[in-house]
Amino acid sequence: MGHWLKFRMAEVATYSFEDARAVVIDRVRSLRTPPKTEMVGLIDAAGRVLMEEVRADRELPPVARSLRDGFAVRSSDVPGTLRVVGEVRAGGMYEGEVGAGEAVEIMTGAPVPRGADQVVMVEHTRREGANVTTDRAGKAGEFINPAGAECKAGDVVVAAGTRMDFVHVAALAMVGATQARVYRRPKVAILSTGDEVVPVESRPGPSQVRNSNAWSLAAQVKRAGGEPVILPAVRDDEEATRRAMEDGLRHDLLLLSGGVSAGKYDFVEPALAALGAEFYFDRVLIQPGQPLVFGRAKERFFFGLPGNPASTMATFELFGRAALELLGGANDAPLPLLWAKLKSGYRHKTGLARFLPARLLDDGQTVEPMVWAGSSDIAAMARANAYLVVEAERGEYAAGDWIQVIPR
Ligand code: AMP
Ligand code: MG
Repeated sequence: MGHWLKFRMAEVATYSFEDARAVVIDRVRSLRTPPKTEMVGLIDAAGRVLMEEVRADRELPPVARSLRDGFAVRSSDVPGTLRVVGEVRAGGMYEGEVGAGEAVEIMTGAPVPRGADQVVMVEHTRREGANVTTDRAGKAGEFINPAGAECKAGDVVVAAGTRMDFVHVAALAMVGATQARVYRRPKVAILSTGDEVVPVESRPGPSQVRNSNAWSLAAQVKRAGGEPVILPAVRDDEEATRRAMEDGLRHDLLLLSGGVSAGKYDFVEPALAALGAEFYFDRVLIQPGQPLVFGRAKERFFFGLPGNPASTMATFELFGRAALELLGGANDAPLPLLWAKLKSGYRHKTGLARFLPARLLDDGQTVEPMVWAGSSDIAAMARANAYLVVEAERGEYAAGDWIQVIPR
């Protein structure tokens, strides 16, 4: 043990929140190997990472289209009174040409007839029999989307490495792609450690806790595009921990919960070291979650997440999620932060950045810190919907101050 403590202190780095996140992103980006791929239909494409870019099959729009309901005119003819010579609806085509002194009634999305170079909104016209009058000034191009304004045939409409959402699904549909080649979901092993940890179905004794971490992590992994594989929990025993890790390291990513503090029975780091692991850091200046281990062994990345439920959840969200998204082939792993006004004041001892349970209110810009009993208080976290981000070096916030929030 003496040797082990020396190893930790001498070799393994401690980082701020920002630096630790940058290390995770940099390591995973430079050492990852692309996952295998599969085809999915449009209904399953959202949430998946596109492997092959998708290109436009034709110029878009293919013809100049009207952006308004109104009248297609020659801009040199307005303001004035024009003769309505026909109509064109969305899906139709006006075969003739708009001549001098003429207008064609047009609907939004309809192709602009030849000869016309402006659409006057119906709201800006007066119709009298076969004539239409407008006071609007002539302005060539107004309310017309020219052919090719959105893209040319062959332009990339969704880039490779994009984690797709509903907009990308629309882009695929727009170019006629009924299927897309996406990366397979990385398989993520979840290994809980702890003598006190028992399965959810069991009736725990007074000193035991149900294994909630395996399930919160599984849900977080699924949300981040991974496929969770929950391994049987291991006792606080170095040998048993090492054997279970060997199994875990056969997956694309290994998440460990518990056993990373400085306690006498915390065997995660020594067991990983025995497997030849390289450690990138084993402490981050955050709370909850200070003892947090990130490294690589047997060509796989692992996280040793502290076992307190709030710590496990927060450290996965802040670090593990980015690693998993990148391992899944995504180009980037943004962390969405928004600003909100504190409903009540907050003070803390400086030195650690804190990620505390909070409730973002319906107005979208007020945040209320939750009262909680600390890192094991899942019930309080269940009443929250966001993390309040308390800066490490700022000790005091007043009610009404702006503070960063990560919506959950
Ligand atoms: P550790 O990080 O191993 O020191 O664990 C800290 C505390 O987190 C333990 O005392 C347990 O109360 C709790 N804990 C550890 N593992 C789990 C788990 N898998 N599920 C729920 N709580 C856990
Ligand atoms: Mg433990």
